[in-house]
Amino acid sequence: MEKQPKTIRELTREIRVKCPSLWLWDDLESRLNFATDRSAIFSLPDLIVFPSTEEELSCFMDIAQRYPLPITPQGARTGTTGGGVPVQGGIVLSTLRMNRIESIDPENRLVIVQPGVITGHLHRALEQQRLFYPPDPASLELCTIGGNISEDAGGPRAVKYGVTHDYILGMTVFLSDGKRLELGGMTHKNVAGYRLSSLFAGSEGTLGIITSATLRILPLPETRHLVLSLFPSVTAALTCVSDLLLKETPSAIEFMDRRATRLVQSKLPTSLPEKVESLLLIELDGSGQAVTSQLDIIRQICHKNAAIGLSLAKSQSEANKLWGIRRSLSPALYSIAPTKLNHDVVVPLRNIMPLVDKLDTLSEELDLPIATFGHVGDGNLHVNIMTDRNNPSAYPKALHGVERLFREVINLKGSISGEHGIGLTKKAYLPYQLSRPVLETMKHIKQMFDPEERLNPGKIFS
Ligand SMILES: Cc1cc2nc3c(=O)[nH]c(=O)nc-3n(C[C@H](O)[C@H](O)[C@H](O)COP(=O)(O)OP(=O)(O)OC[C@H]3O[C@@H](n4cnc5c(N)ncnc54)[C@H](O)[C@@H]3O)c2cc1C
Repeated sequence: MEKQPKTIRELTREIRVKCPSLWLWDDLESRLNFATDRSAIFSLPDLIVFPSTEEELSCFMDIAQRYPLPITPQGARTGTTGGGVPVQGGIVLSTLRMNRIESIDPENRLVIVQPGVITGHLHRALEQQRLFYPPDPASLELCTIGGNISEDAGGPRAVKYGVTHDYILGMTVFLSDGKRLELGGMTHKNVAGYRLSSLFAGSEGTLGIITSATLRILPLPETRHLVLSLFPSVTAALTCVSDLLLKETPSAIEFMDRRATRLVQSKLPTSLPEKVESLLLIELDGSGQAVTSQLDIIRQICHKNAAIGLSLAKSQSEANKLWGIRRSLSPALYSIAPTKLNHDVVVPLRNIMPLVDKLDTLSEELDLPIATFGHVGDGNLHVNIMTDRNNPSAYPKALHGVERLFREVINLKGSISGEHGIGLTKKAYLPYQLSRPVLETMKHIKQMFDPEERLNPGKIFS
């Protein structure tokens, strides 16, 4: 899409006149700030707008449709696949000021939020009323609900509670031509026509701009317990997971392989015995009685699978600390190497072990460290191939490793992304997984919603 400085100047002037309350930044420093997400791919936008209400957004959209410029929605830019990077320049539409919780409605078991609400803020606001919104991406203190819907974010609790799309009752979206759609509503069931709101879950900002979301909530579980279990081998830990899932549904099961375990060992409350090769964090929630009996079963299963140590967090603050350690893993990886190629692959539960075995082989063959951890309870592992972007021999090997990883995952009937989406970093690999008719159908859907390809162009499809 051709863009001319004159067009930008005219657009800016028109917005300032017609939408005077809308924040608009076009200085270089701001443009640099909004040029990237956690993918570290950079592309400068020409300007950034920050609506705080639907009226401001609508005012902007009325004007913007007359200018041939791409519009890239952004939440908190914690996306790891480049979904929020304005690859073709143009306008970044940031939802950071649309951050109000409009209403908490316990009787109807729902909450209505603007898209820029930070997920962790929503959790705390609900917890004060003993309510619960389960989706809990590890980035929850930073990321937004709009970003979560657009990536269909998961998290540790997906094993019991499902992912973001399981909580969407309704939403309001603006299409690139300025049309406003109200999808779904306030009911917990709704089969009137196509479930278009589901189409927006995971659409990565390519179909429309989400301006409001109505989300299902639950009562806060009476109690929660977190168990840290140490294992002498990855095989023992993964067999334990498999046995556990046959009997119980914990609210989270997080896995760390040997490399990941070594990275966090200095932060753990107790020092790790040398022979520990893997660890599991197992969270249980529910009524006090139910959790106590679940705990007994989990202890037995862990011991049967050679657990070396098993400790129960004694307080909520100790549990929070352990979760904090889990969340610190991502940045800690940079102590291994300066570049991580992080892929959130997912396989059917029975294929977790074969995948982890293959990763060992891959690491040896590439002669590169691979650290793996993640939401093992739903087969979703974060595989980190560690390398150095500036090393001319290591980096191409790492890229080749990514390709082999994806082929292996597909071979094991899995998916190249369980929760981070395709964005820019995985779009070349999408045809490995999806057949041509499926890709064509998806492209038709994109065309129908956004015929001029103005909304977040360059994403998902090659
Ligand atoms: C340390 C770390 C841990 C993470 N852990 C997890 C995890 O456990 N589970 C998980 O699923 N993800 C995880 N992520 C990835 C990321 O946090 C999620 O994808 C999150 O949902 C992105 O939200 P965001 O607000 O940052 O969105 P952004 O990164 O700003 O945007 C993501 C995508 O959503 C689109 N978008 C944003 N807002 C809107 C809107 N209102 N309307 C339309 N499109 C919109 C953007 O165009 C973009 O394509 C993690 C990331 C980090 C850095």
